Amino acid sequence: MRRKNGFSKPLGCHQILSWVVVFSMVNVFYILYIPAFNSSAISVITFLYSVALFLTLFWGFRATYADPLDQVVAEELRAKKWDLPFDAKKYNQICTVCNTHVTFESKHCGNCDKCIDGFDHHCNWLNNCVGKKNYAFFAYLIASLEALTGIQGSVGIYIVQNIISNNDVKNTLEDRLGIDSGGMRVFYVCIVLFFTFISVLIFILNGNLIGFHIWLKKKGMSTYDFILQRRGKEKFKSKRVVPQIQKDDIEEGNRTADVSAVFKKESK
Ligand SMILES: [Zn+2]
Ligand SMILES: [Zn+2]
Repeated sequence: MRRKNGFSKPLGCHQILSWVVVFSMVNVFYILYIPAFNSSAISVITFLYSVALFLTLFWGFRATYADPLDQVVAEELRAKKWDLPFDAKKYNQICTVCNTHVTFESKHCGNCDKCIDGFDHHCNWLNNCVGKKNYAFFAYLIASLEALTGIQGSVGIYIVQNIISNNDVKNTLEDRLGIDSGGMRVFYVCIVLFFTFISVLIFILNGNLIGFHIWLKKKGMSTYDFILQRRGKEKFKSKRVVPQIQKDDIEEGNRTADVSAVFKKESK
């Protein structure tokens, strides 16, 4: 069934996991990290972290909520439904699943069951495709997430480092959170260490992703182009999106086999 966006059911495991991780990280930051600082530092750290959090949630929502459906598909389906005029001559690519014309940069996503204009990749964390319509939102999201995890990671390392040597931090924690015994302090450090580790891990992995996308931009490629290049394929990105002229070769009910026959013909 065609999915509208990343909030359409069924929700993905990766997507739910990402919500749980961000929710716990953020709560632990405000409840346990912030009280370790003195008043002037608290306002600066809270402000920076809250801005990064707001941007992460805002762009995350926009990237998930966007519907990256190929507009030609939408237009043709609307035309068929309401008997409106549609200029098929403008488009020479066909999707054999949607059974409509598509733009040249389109690819049919099996997960979303629709054609995506400017397909980059299907993101399991967003449970949505990233295409022409939401690529910028996705880029802003990973940049904001990098800031968020960067702040949490460095603040966490600072706290753990100081709690061992600095009596001021110990006193602050005792006043604010009632952490007055060695055992409670160890427990506190373990929680902070755990979430700092998670933040640093996300910071490194997400940083790699950012580097990869900057590199792709420089090369003028999408993630999908990169995958195809590695597989040694270039023409006809999706076996479901074929030139119109070959659509006649594809018989109903035996699509996959016939499309691969078309491909063999192409490669000759
Ligand atoms: Zn399609
Ligand atoms: Zn998809």
